Amino acid sequence: MGSSDRRVLSSDSIRTLRLKVRGESYRWLSAAAVEVNQCWNWCNETSSKAARPFAGRPQWLSAFELDRLSAGATKEFEHIGADTIQRINAEYVRKRQQFGKAKLRWRVSRGSRRSLGWVPFKAQCLRRRGKRLRFCGKTIRVFQRERLAEVLRFKDGCFAQDAVGNWWLCLPVRIETEPTVAPREAVGIDLGLRHSAVTSEGERLEAGHYYRGLEPAIARAQRRGHRQQAKRLHRTAARRRADALHKFSRRIVDRYQNIVIGDVSSLKLAKTRMAKSVLDAGWGMLKSQLQYKGQQAGRSVSIVSEKYTSRACSACGALSGPAGVNGLRVRTWVCRACGDTHDRDVNAARNILSARRCPSSVRGNESSHRSAPPSRAPRPREAGIAQSGAAI
Ligand SMILES: [Zn+2]
Repeated sequence: MGSSDRRVLSSDSIRTLRLKVRGESYRWLSAAAVEVNQCWNWCNETSSKAARPFAGRPQWLSAFELDRLSAGATKEFEHIGADTIQRINAEYVRKRQQFGKAKLRWRVSRGSRRSLGWVPFKAQCLRRRGKRLRFCGKTIRVFQRERLAEVLRFKDGCFAQDAVGNWWLCLPVRIETEPTVAPREAVGIDLGLRHSAVTSEGERLEAGHYYRGLEPAIARAQRRGHRQQAKRLHRTAARRRADALHKFSRRIVDRYQNIVIGDVSSLKLAKTRMAKSVLDAGWGMLKSQLQYKGQQAGRSVSIVSEKYTSRACSACGALSGPAGVNGLRVRTWVCRACGDTHDRDVNAARNILSARRCPSSVRGNESSHRSAPPSRAPRPREAGIAQSGAAI
């Protein structure tokens, strides 16, 4: 993607509108989902046979070829139409390419390992009829439909079922956003376990222990065999976490023009002993929220290596901070070289911020968002001084 494409995105972005479907349509949607699963499994079988034939040349079927092979299949189905089948074919090919496998997981319609329902469709097949929606000859009503009224055009979407069994209409819509200027120049953000995130100005997002707080209740529900209740508690925890992260990322994006994040690999850490805390802290979610919200508002969001950020003194640069596993327990320390007192996390966030200013000293900051153009909006004063300094 060229930089010109990114510029278009920053003023015009895609967001997914999620609207809960009313209960009267659940039975129909569930039946349609069974047909979607059959169609998906047909894709899986057909394309894996083509990729590993008994004789002849192996072939990776494209979505177009799957469309051709499945032409006329709508006769077999009572609920879904040709547009849904084509969307399944396209999604199947996309997933297969993403994972680089000849065969994907089957979609299961029944039993305890049942796949969550999913019914994709093309934009033109969901029609608005006054207050109602028409899909495949069926009337579908949603909650909060006034949110739909603001939408002029939407893209290809889907109906999706959550773990509790509710159905949602997911519609990607184009939203126009105005790049704005943030009041402050830059901030560094250190992602940690004790606090989910700490900024270079000392602001903290507490790791809420969203799951840990609800764990006893979840365990109790599971012991008693109340699976639905356990699922609901999981959902409550996830919502609380998402809410806290959204509020924090919004505050940061509204306030700072340049946002620098330390590159913690949440996936790598999630495999260690600290896994539960890592997932609870929601690092990956916070990172992606800062990136997309920043892009919408015309901010520059960069990711830099975290190496040495907790050991180096942010005042003089000496590697005088706590090191190793034992160092994790040290919350505040005094620099041997300059005598400055540091809070461990704030110091790390300040180092992350300065890593952006001198990127040559930092390695491994290869991020797809690094090439994002700086905002076209006029820079605040402090940034202007830095630029003229660089010119001299
Ligand atoms: Zn120092």
